[in-house]
Amino acid sequence: MRKLLYVLLDGVGDRPNPELNYTTPLEAALTPNLDALARQGVKGLVYPVGEGIAPESDIAVFSMLGYDVHAEYPGRGVIEAVGLDLDFRSGDLAVRANFATVDESNKIVDRRVGRDLSEEEARSLAQALNERVKLSGATFRFVHSVGHRAVLVIRVEGERLSGMISNTDPAYERVGKLGVAKEGRVSPYVKEAEPLEDTRAAKLAAELVNEFTRQALKVLKDHPVNQERIKRGQLPGNAVLLRDAGNELPSIKPLYDRFKMRFAALTDMPVERGVAKITGMQSFEAGGLRDYAAKAKKALELLTRYGGVYVHLKGPDEPGHDGDAWGKKKVIEDIDQHFFSKLLLNIDLDQVVVAISADHSTPCNLRSHSADPVPLLITGGKAGKDEPCRFTEKDCRKGSLGSLIGKEALERVYSFLPR
Ligand code: ZN
Ligand code: ZN
Repeated sequence: MRKLLYVLLDGVGDRPNPELNYTTPLEAALTPNLDALARQGVKGLVYPVGEGIAPESDIAVFSMLGYDVHAEYPGRGVIEAVGLDLDFRSGDLAVRANFATVDESNKIVDRRVGRDLSEEEARSLAQALNERVKLSGATFRFVHSVGHRAVLVIRVEGERLSGMISNTDPAYERVGKLGVAKEGRVSPYVKEAEPLEDTRAAKLAAELVNEFTRQALKVLKDHPVNQERIKRGQLPGNAVLLRDAGNELPSIKPLYDRFKMRFAALTDMPVERGVAKITGMQSFEAGGLRDYAAKAKKALELLTRYGGVYVHLKGPDEPGHDGDAWGKKKVIEDIDQHFFSKLLLNIDLDQVVVAISADHSTPCNLRSHSADPVPLLITGGKAGKDEPCRFTEKDCRKGSLGSLIGKEALERVYSFLPR
């Protein structure tokens, strides 16, 4: 029995907060179970993608699984298309989409339609787009995923499209294939996509994306779903923002080839499922986003069948974006009480190495992801223990693992597997 459990807490890293008496949510939270794991393990800090980079979750997870995001990351659009099991072949264009709200002058009023678009409403808007938008010489599928999120896949039969085009979503920039949230003030207008290389494939891709964007505005404007929403005082989902185009399925080494063990992933969102699939993990779900007890049960069950189990726990990121330090502390306590307590009772640390870290920090006072390093704790197997301290930003800085970059983390965890 040589097993590995790798748990990433979404956005758990933070900074000292005045509302918590100048401690971080991890420091302020009551976490007896995490503390017990930390006392028995070794600690360190991780820069999820690299120093100075504030990553999006998908890119960060890709890196924390040991991949080189600059060379191997295929772009968010492709990841999401794969996560939704869409028919996507190399040469197709896959783009991440958001339903959004614009006013008469196409000024963006809300990037996420007030975050309250129901599944049924989104599905109905997506269906209208699929039926009524016509792209010349191309076919497409627009598939709604969760909330305001969707994916657009465009295909031109017999011709390749290039993913090297700029975003129509003004809140995100492209740096190579990486989507990076823009800092500070951003233009409030939907942008035109532009080719980022001088090829027919990129020009054609940009034209098709712009044509789709224009027609979508017309189709969505007076859609019954939106008329109803306006009547109820809600924002209409009357525009589509597109970003992070990609056109290639990556050929990367699956986790099995690197570690000679089969991996399972326990995740919630299509984008996480996409990362799992591309890295060769079998995907599973359990309970709702914050049903940590159900996730602990599932993780334990998966550990009996797989050598490696990767668990992505949502929860701490959202209060971070909302600037809600107390809420974040509470989520951490919930995770400790319902996830780690079960784990502690049911895991044999002689056989299983447990690693706990985060995909990035989401400091409450920034309300966005930051480049701050995140704590890493490795317990069990041959890991041994260092100074007894807690799983917090400050304590892990003193740990014996020192500071790592995300790409090195999983390999380090693996090196502690029992013989
Ligand atoms: Zn995240
Ligand atoms: Zn976030």
